[in-house]
Amino acid sequence: MKPRIYLDYNASTPLCPAARTMVGRVLGVEEGAYNASSVHAFGREGRKFVEDARRNVADLVGADVSQVIFNSGATEGNNTVLRHFAQVFPDDVILVSAVEHPSVLEAVGGAEIIPVDETGRIDLAFLKDRLVRTPRVSLVSVMYANNETGVIQDVLNISRACRESGAFFHCDATQALGRIPIDIKESGIDFLTCSSHKIGGMQGVGALVMRLCGQTPVLLRGGGQEKAARAGTENVVGIASFGAAAYFAKENMAHNIILRSLRDQMEKELQSISPEIVFHGRSCERLPNTSFFSIPSVNAQNILMALDLEGISISNGSACSSGSVKPSAVLKAMGMENEIASSALRISMGWATKESDVQAFLKSWKIVYERIQKNKGS
Ligand code: PMP
Repeated sequence: MKPRIYLDYNASTPLCPAARTMVGRVLGVEEGAYNASSVHAFGREGRKFVEDARRNVADLVGADVSQVIFNSGATEGNNTVLRHFAQVFPDDVILVSAVEHPSVLEAVGGAEIIPVDETGRIDLAFLKDRLVRTPRVSLVSVMYANNETGVIQDVLNISRACRESGAFFHCDATQALGRIPIDIKESGIDFLTCSSHKIGGMQGVGALVMRLCGQTPVLLRGGGQEKAARAGTENVVGIASFGAAAYFAKENMAHNIILRSLRDQMEKELQSISPEIVFHGRSCERLPNTSFFSIPSVNAQNILMALDLEGISISNGSACSSGSVKPSAVLKAMGMENEIASSALRISMGWATKESDVQAFLKSWKIVYERIQKNKGS
């Protein structure tokens, strides 16, 4: 049987070796249970797993340990921040970019949209202009890098504009984490959200990293956990896996250089096999692991399924909306026609991706693409 090739890391990554070992350690406890709030020996061991993880996650984003609040993932983090501002500043406006993840776009009603250009980067002039008008803007939410295109936003200039106008800046760094260096202090981010399963940790755990800025968004109340900023018994195994993955990601940051060259070489070869291919966001800074492209007039779902039969797992845009053949909302916001927005496919690589995986994908791509072209002609 052919081995399956996984090229959908932006949807979820396989557990990295460090996280796998950590999960074994935490789940291996037999005589008791790790509730990190208990005062007995098991509780103290559980607490140590959580605090070690906090240090590793803080290190990965250049934060102090006191700034990291563990939660269930980026969806929760995004909802926590946006709902807080909607509640605390009901007369002010929240600005969100047009290419945000649905967990930002749908977190609150009435947010105003910052448009993006044809590469998917936000219109900075629009933002600056809107920030000096009324009603006042309390919060600006722009992601670090896009989950579909991988396009990286001008985070530094966005944070500067926010600072000048007194607005807070929330940045969903879920896809950027571990793929490019992040420093929450240098980049002037007030609230950063991220997720463990995009960097080789378990699903269902993430973090909200906050600057000391006078606002502490809290979604879940009713327990003193996480300094009362996120109630509920800590997911010790998930948090420990996140910490191990964060350490692994920081140690292996250089692997992204290899991924970039694999990605660039792959795009060249895709172009020569399928000359009508349209790459998205290729003209600007992108995550090194991501390639997002359309084959006009070809149904992306058909390619996806044919590749799956060949043992290759890729995605048609965001995992959250795949399964349905809706045009990509990100590409629509970038001004693409329906034909292009409905025929997009995403390859995303990660810590275990090897050159042989990319070669196997290209081999299958050639077979599938040529078959589809032949069927079109018949
Ligand atoms: N934001 C972005 C940019 C994402 O890619 C995702 C995951 N698809 C999320 C938020 C949601 O993350 P989680 O799965 O941790 O809820």
